[in-house]
Amino acid sequence: MGNSRAMNDLVLYDTLTREKRRFEPGDPERVTMYVCGPTVYNYAHIGNFRPVVVFDVLFRLLRRLYGEDHVLYAANVTDVDDKINQKAAAEGVPISVITGRYLEAYNADAAALGALRPTFQPRATETMDAIVAMIGELVGNNAAYAAEGHVLFSTEAFADYGRLSGRPLDELIAGARVDVAPYKRDPRDFVLWKPSKPGEPEWESPWGPGRPGWHIECTAMIAESLGLPIDIHGGGIDLVFPHHENELAQGVCSGHGREYARVWMHNGFLNMAEEKMSKSLGNVALAHDLLAEYPGEAIRWALLSGHYRQPLEWTDELIEQSRRSLDTLYGALRRANAALQNADHLQLGQGDPSYLPLQEQLDGFTENTLYDDLNTPKAYAMLAEFVWRLNQAIDSHDLAQIAFCRGLLREAGRSMGFLEADPEAWFHGGANEALKGQVEALIAARAEARAARDWPEADRIRAELDALGVDIMDGAGGTTWRTRSQ
Ligand SMILES: [Zn+2]
Repeated sequence: MGNSRAMNDLVLYDTLTREKRRFEPGDPERVTMYVCGPTVYNYAHIGNFRPVVVFDVLFRLLRRLYGEDHVLYAANVTDVDDKINQKAAAEGVPISVITGRYLEAYNADAAALGALRPTFQPRATETMDAIVAMIGELVGNNAAYAAEGHVLFSTEAFADYGRLSGRPLDELIAGARVDVAPYKRDPRDFVLWKPSKPGEPEWESPWGPGRPGWHIECTAMIAESLGLPIDIHGGGIDLVFPHHENELAQGVCSGHGREYARVWMHNGFLNMAEEKMSKSLGNVALAHDLLAEYPGEAIRWALLSGHYRQPLEWTDELIEQSRRSLDTLYGALRRANAALQNADHLQLGQGDPSYLPLQEQLDGFTENTLYDDLNTPKAYAMLAEFVWRLNQAIDSHDLAQIAFCRGLLREAGRSMGFLEADPEAWFHGGANEALKGQVEALIAARAEARAARDWPEADRIRAELDALGVDIMDGAGGTTWRTRSQ
C-alpha cells in the first residue's frame, strides 16, 4: 500500500455534481481510471496530448497514494472510424496498416512527453465481442432498438439523460437534429450499431454485419478492461456532450448499476493562437513536430502550466518560457552536483535540523498542490521555492543542506514527471565529445575577443556557435551553453 496518512486528502472536481469532492475509490486496493484516447489516423494534435499529460500526473499521484500495483488505468484506442477508412482507401492498404502506424507514433510522442504507458490500451477492433454483447444487453433491457440495419439507444430509457452535461431537453434535441434519421424514435437517440458502407470493414452481429458507434466502444471497453463502475473517468471538456452523456446512459441502462464513474474529470481546451506561433516552426499543431524542436519535458511543462480545468493559450513563447523554467531547475541541480562532486559520503536528510525529513517535505509538497484538484501552477511555485533554497545552500557552502535540497527538488519534480534527465544532458544533450571540445574552445576564444573589445570577432564566434546548433548564455558565473534540440 502507498501512503495511507494522506489517503483521504485528495480532492477532485466532479463534472457531474459540479463540486470539488474528497476522492474515495470503491476499493483502495484496486483504483480504476479511464481516459478517452485517440482515433489513430494521423499524428495527433498537441491539444490531444493535454489530457494525456494531465491524467498522467493524476496516475502518478494515485500510484504514490495507493501503491503502484493498486491503480489500473485504461486509455482506449479508436481504430474503427470513417477517417481511418478514408486514409486506408487513399493509400490502398488495410486499416490495420494505418492504425498500427499512427498508434506507434502516438505512443512514442506520449512517452516523449513523459507520460507513463496506461495499464491497458484496449482497441475497438479487439473488443468487438464485448461491444456486441453490451448492445445485446441494452436491447434486452428495452434501452435500445433495431431499425433498418441500425441499433439505436433509446434516450427515453434513461431518466437522467442530460444531467452530466447539464443541458436542457430542448438543447439536447436541437443538438441531435444535425444527425436526424427517419428510423429514430426520438431525435436524441444515438447509434450503437450501423451497417458499414460497401468496401469498408465490417463485423458480424445479431442485427446484421456492420460496425459500432463511437460511444458504445468506450462503455464496453471500460466494462471489459476495468469493470463498472470505475473511480475516475476523464477526457477533454469537448467530450462531455454527447460522448460522455451517452456513455453514462449506456453504462447505467446495460444493467451495471446506477453508478458509472465516481468522479468525472474534464480538462479545458488548448487554444491555438496561430498568429502568435512562430512561422518558422511550420506545422506547429502536431506534437510530433513540436517534439523535434523542443525537449519533451519543456512541452510537458507548458501543458501543465495552467490549471487543467482552465483553457490554455498555446504559444511558442509559452514553450520557450517553460524551457527557461526547466533551465532554472536543471541549472540549480547542475550547480549542486558540482558542489557535491567530492562529497559522496553525505546522506540525504542530514541537513539543517529545522527541516523536516525529506519524505515529509515531499508529502507536504503534494498535499499543498496536487491534492487540491491537481493544482499544478501552485506546484510550480513550490518547485521555484525549492530552487531558491538549493541555491541558498550552494551559496553558503552547506554541503549537507545542498544534498538535502537537491534531493527534495529532484524528487518533487520527478513526482510530476520532470527532472528525469541528467542536468548535464539537459543542457548538452546530443553533443558528442568532439563537439563539446569545439564549443568550449569557441567560448574561450569569444571570451578573449570580448576582453580585447573585439566585438566583430565575438559576434563572428557567436554566429559560428549558432551554426553548430548551440545557444550560449552569458551569466554571472561565465558563459554556459546548450544544444538547441535533443
Ligand atoms: Zn470515450
